[in-house]
Amino acid sequence: MDNTGFKFDDIPLTGWYPGHMKKANKQMQEALKLIDIVVEVCDARAPLTTRNPSFDYLFNNKPRMVIFNKADLADPEETERWRQWYAQYNIRVIAISATKLKNVKDLAQIWKDTFEQIRQDRGATQPLHRATRVLISGVPNVGKSTIINKLSVERRAEVGAKPGVTRIVQWIPVAGGIELLDTPGVLWPKIKRKTHELRLAVCGCIKDDVIGVELLAEFLLAEMKKNNKDWPSELYGIKTLPRDEYEFLESLAKKRGLLRSGGKVDLERASQILLKDFREGKFGKMTFEIPPEKMEDALPAMIVE
Ligand code: GDP
Repeated sequence: MDNTGFKFDDIPLTGWYPGHMKKANKQMQEALKLIDIVVEVCDARAPLTTRNPSFDYLFNNKPRMVIFNKADLADPEETERWRQWYAQYNIRVIAISATKLKNVKDLAQIWKDTFEQIRQDRGATQPLHRATRVLISGVPNVGKSTIINKLSVERRAEVGAKPGVTRIVQWIPVAGGIELLDTPGVLWPKIKRKTHELRLAVCGCIKDDVIGVELLAEFLLAEMKKNNKDWPSELYGIKTLPRDEYEFLESLAKKRGLLRSGGKVDLERASQILLKDFREGKFGKMTFEIPPEKMEDALPAMIVE
C-alpha cells in the first residue's frame, strides 16, 4: 500500500486462462503413466508465484523435482533461502541458468541418477533397459524450451520471449539415455491475487497486453521499492528523484524523447523499455519474493480451487 491507500490487490484479476492450457493439462495427465520423473521449471525471481499449484494435484503420485531457472537474474542468497525453505517440505529444488550448457547437462545426469536411486529403493536389481522419461512442465516463459534445446539431438523447441510458444505435448529425443516430454506452458484456472498475476506478467509468463504495460511497469517499480532496490535512474540518466512510479516513467519518457502527438509523454513506450531492460537483467539481480515464515502465508499461491 502507498500513502494514498492504493493496493495492487484491489485491481480486478483478468482471469486469463486460454483454452489450449486446459487441453494441455488433460494431455499431460494422459501421458503421465509413461513418465518416470516430473520436472517443474519455475522462475528463480518468483519461486512461489511461478509454481503452478494445480501440478500438486496433477502430478501427485510421481517423483518430482523443481528447477529454479534464470538463477542468473535472481539474488543468489534468496535463491539459497528458497531452496532450504522448500527442502523443509521435502521438495527438491535445483537452481540453474538454462542459458549455461553445463548447468543443463548436469541436470540431465541428476535426472538419471535420481531415477536410478528410486528404482533401487523400489527393489530393482536389473539395470534400466530404456531411457529415463522426464516430463518438463512449468508456466509459460520460464525456460522450458531453452533447457530442451540444450539437450535435444535436433533443434526443435522454439525459444521465445512470447509466452505460450509451445502448444502441444511432444516427445523429444535426447542423447544419453533420456527422453523428454515437452509440454506447453500452463497457468491455472483461478489465480487468486492481482499481485500474483502481475508478478507472473513481469516475469513474462502472461502476455503484457493481457495486463497492460503501464500497470506492469508501475508494479515493477513498486516491487523494487518494496524490496529496497533502487530504481534504475542512472541507467536512464534521471537526475531528480521521482516522487512515485508514475513520475519515474514520465522522466524516462522525457529522457528518451518519447512523445505522443500534442506533446504528451508516451508512457506506454517508456513502460515497454523499462520492462524489456528489467527482463534482460539490466537492473541487476533481484528476487521478488522472500520465503514466508509459515506455510499458511504461502498458501494463497499454493492452492488451486
Ligand atoms: P518456455 O516458454 O518456458 O519454453 O521459455 P523459453 O525457453 O522460450 O525462454 C523464455 C525466455 O527466457 C527466452 O527469451 C530465453 O532466452 C530466456 N531464458 C531462458 N532461460 C534463461 C536463463 O537461465 N537466464 C536468462 N537470463 N534468460 C533465460
